[in-house]
Amino acid sequence: MQRIYVADSVPMAWHMANVLEHQGIQALVKNDRLYSVAGAVPINECMPEVWIRNDLDYIRAGRIIKEFESSAIIEEPDWWCRACAEVNAGNFDLCWNCQTERLASSDAD
Ligand SMILES: [Zn+2]
Repeated sequence: MQRIYVADSVPMAWHMANVLEHQGIQALVKNDRLYSVAGAVPINECMPEVWIRNDLDYIRAGRIIKEFESSAIIEEPDWWCRACAEVNAGNFDLCWNCQTERLASSDAD
């Protein structure tokens, strides 16, 4: 098992894990609960982390993350999940929390 990514937010960590899972890479998020007590523990010890279960996926996972980060530069507005009402970053295609697909903007209201 190896750490592949340190996210700056819990939703981002979950989203990255979802992206990897979607590519067939088993991923898990650590520190997604510790994040809520930031301030009580050193910040660099409580950032949410994405880990991959199989070390052999490391290079591929790194490439996927790099690709995701370069595509994330295009800023899109945040959106609300219609299923669980969580806020998602504009570059997320799936809700980080419940994996519901984002509605196309033409489907709004
Ligand atoms: Zn949701």
